[in-house]
Amino acid sequence: MSVSGLCELCQTNEVVDGCDRCGRLVCERHYDRSTGLCTDCLLEVGDASDREGEPDQRSGPDGVDTYEF
Ligand SMILES: [Zn+2]
Ligand SMILES: [Zn+2]
Repeated sequence: MSVSGLCELCQTNEVVDGCDRCGRLVCERHYDRSTGLCTDCLLEVGDASDREGEPDQRSGPDGVDTYEF
């Protein structure tokens, strides 16, 4: 597998690293060095309340900026 290539998310910029979660090769703009995840996974992981069908009384409309860096 070659590291060189185009970002799998934007198909425009050059690949800098691979996501630790999905393994996709992404460019600097779509790679978060602090977490080692692509921006796609970062959005999923960042959403802590990812439990559908499980009522959580704590979940409110304020949890917009809950990214942990
Ligand atoms: Zn990209
Ligand atoms: Zn990913």
